[in-house]
Amino acid sequence: MNEFELIARHFSRPTPSALLGVGDDAAIVRPTPGHDLHVSVDMLVEGRHFFADVSPEALGHKTLAVNLSDMAAMGARARWALLSLALPEADEAWVAGFARGFYALAARHGVELIGGDTTRGPLTLSVTVFGEAPAGQALRRGAAQAGDDIWVSGELGLGALAVRQRLAWFEVSDAALLAEATRKLEYPQPRLELGQRLLSLAHAAADVSDGLLADLGHILKASGVGAEVWADELPSLPAVETDRRRWLDCLAAGGDDYELVFTAAAASRQAIEAAGRAAACRVTRIGRIVAGQGASLLGADGHPLTLKKAGYDHFSG
Ligand code: ADP
Ligand code: MG
Repeated sequence: MNEFELIARHFSRPTPSALLGVGDDAAIVRPTPGHDLHVSVDMLVEGRHFFADVSPEALGHKTLAVNLSDMAAMGARARWALLSLALPEADEAWVAGFARGFYALAARHGVELIGGDTTRGPLTLSVTVFGEAPAGQALRRGAAQAGDDIWVSGELGLGALAVRQRLAWFEVSDAALLAEATRKLEYPQPRLELGQRLLSLAHAAADVSDGLLADLGHILKASGVGAEVWADELPSLPAVETDRRRWLDCLAAGGDDYELVFTAAAASRQAIEAAGRAAACRVTRIGRIVAGQGASLLGADGHPLTLKKAGYDHFSG
């Protein structure tokens, strides 16, 4: 199978919302009037972002999910995607599985694949996503204010738990917990609906991909403020909650969460709870923005806790 057959067979589903999709020299789209276009790209490399034996379907899902998560963090609706693939070989079954996972998630969020690039090389996947939000309304990292509440969506630490178990850093004896954690690692669900519902409510937002404290740190830096984060409030599953201290590293700094961390005025608490219910997504208040800089993680007694590392950084450690 050559490159063109591969694209025609697996990456050419209809794109009714684009003026021109896969097959020409460029795709053509027309953003909704009165909206700003949001653009973001993310790359996944074997051995660094995923284990070599992960199923192609999960990889197709995750390649798109990590990009949609960035749109969610802006409060944008995701609309179109470009897919760049470097493949060691044209393994048809593998490509079919990858496309299945990719398109299933795309369909769920009304995203259309309108083009890409395909080449032979060490397995590398990159998606560029285009989204839109009403003009001037995006959730930027630099808009947190002292006195804001800090919120997080969903559960934290599970993806990191699955990675650490896999690397044999520690053992997870609870099989149901491990299955749930692996599911979260391989099939993260981007919080697009919640993000859009937060547009008029939240001040600043970011998605948690490198670890809560690291990604919250980006908000703090961009906003010129500090934060206190309450370790005992970090949301996870009941099975994890029985041994919270042991998982604190995963919860606060593990990464691979693809949840949203955001800040909002205390007056918005009820509206944010309602937005979470409407989006069928747990939302938890985990701290507050203060004057100063950096985040302090506080234990139940109010004393600061320290972690080995605030989050994942590709060029250190
Ligand atoms: P070019 O030679 O201009 O780079 P290509 O031959 O790479 O064009 O691609 C032909 C068409 O197929 C283009 O419309 C391109 O966007 C699309 N395409 C290539 N790879 C992919 C892919 N992995 N997924 C979706 N569309 C793709
Ligand atoms: Mg090309």
